[in-house]
Amino acid sequence: MTARRRWRLTKPLRAAIRAGHPWIYDRALAPPTGLVAGDIATVVDDDGPIATVLADPTSPLRARVLDLEPDAVIDGAWVQVRTEAAGARRMRDPLLVGCTGRRLVHGEGDGCAGLVIDHYDDTAVIVFDGPAASAFWRPRVPDVLAGLERAGISIAHVWMRGERRERTAGEALRGDPPEEIVITEDEAKFAVDVRAGQKTGFFLDQRDNRRSVRRHAAGATVLNVFSYTGGFSVHAALGGAARVTSVDIAGPAIAGIAKNFERSGLAAASHEGVTADAFDFFARSKQRGRTWDLVIVDPPSFAPSEKARPAALAAYRKLAVAALAVTAPGGRFALASCSSHVTEGDLLDLASGLGPLRLRLAGGGGSDHPVLPAFPEGRYLKFLFFDVG
Ligand code: SAH
Repeated sequence: MTARRRWRLTKPLRAAIRAGHPWIYDRALAPPTGLVAGDIATVVDDDGPIATVLADPTSPLRARVLDLEPDAVIDGAWVQVRTEAAGARRMRDPLLVGCTGRRLVHGEGDGCAGLVIDHYDDTAVIVFDGPAASAFWRPRVPDVLAGLERAGISIAHVWMRGERRERTAGEALRGDPPEEIVITEDEAKFAVDVRAGQKTGFFLDQRDNRRSVRRHAAGATVLNVFSYTGGFSVHAALGGAARVTSVDIAGPAIAGIAKNFERSGLAAASHEGVTADAFDFFARSKQRGRTWDLVIVDPPSFAPSEKARPAALAAYRKLAVAALAVTAPGGRFALASCSSHVTEGDLLDLASGLGPLRLRLAGGGGSDHPVLPAFPEGRYLKFLFFDVG
């Protein structure tokens, strides 16, 4: 066996890496000579070896820490220990009781850089975050699954999502996932299409924020913009909302909401689904003088990169202004952002000066989306819930 390649740091990042920050960018590493995507290397500096990393020689995010042991043996047993631990965290999590949709592996947050696995009933959906993660994890999928199963998780079907960037199709790696899987989230029921749905089929990360909305919905008229298949809408109705309006540009998502209401034992008549562009809908509603007591705005990521940040902040601001224009006095407004380039501080800055807002609560991804304290970039989802007036 040839010795593992040593890869020299060119910036003083030893302390940050040892503290648990798992990402090293191109400008902090020597040229990746002889490394290919998915290779394992040991990052070193003048004081010696630091950590075992996964190499991605053509990406700005050039190395992701796999293990703080610099010469860790990354074999099948290593993989199984990592995913069994991730599975065990879910199995003992009280907030996941009664939920048959949950994230089993959340990349760096679970010590599995670049690997995401969502679980819908007994179907696991795997996503690799980029070509290096794919090259590394794909041959290790049997051990990934074995670790999860050792934690007591049952996996009859495995679907691997295609790579958006590479435009590859998805593929069944085990069994044949049902066309439609119905998951339970407390008393709510949602249909999930793991093949054609957005992301892995459902936005599991908003679970706790949906629960917050449910606790505030009694008697309220609720507007859920960027609703997708009605996650917030169904929970609001379960919380006793007087009426719920959902808006999304995707027709199939809106069509799915009525069915999710029905599955959850809710009267379809209490829901109004609108297929429209969010900005158009806000403009139209303002013109007509329509208002709602509780307005939720959960747009797609506006900032895929640091460069896109200023434009994204302007778009969030525009949305917040439009949403507040249709929020009834004394009502409530929730703004979510799923971009890691936009921080909670950015959103609070943007909200200051927009009127009489008071921060009621600040949420993030659910407990099945663990965040490492040394890795604030991992806190990609922010959910700010304000009292208005
Ligand atoms: N709140 C949802 C997830 C929202 S994801 C949940 O909890 O499940 C973002 C959604 O925004 C997607 O469903 C997408 O179809 C929709 N979308 C994207 N651009 C839009 C636009 N301009 N107007 C309205 N909806 C849009």
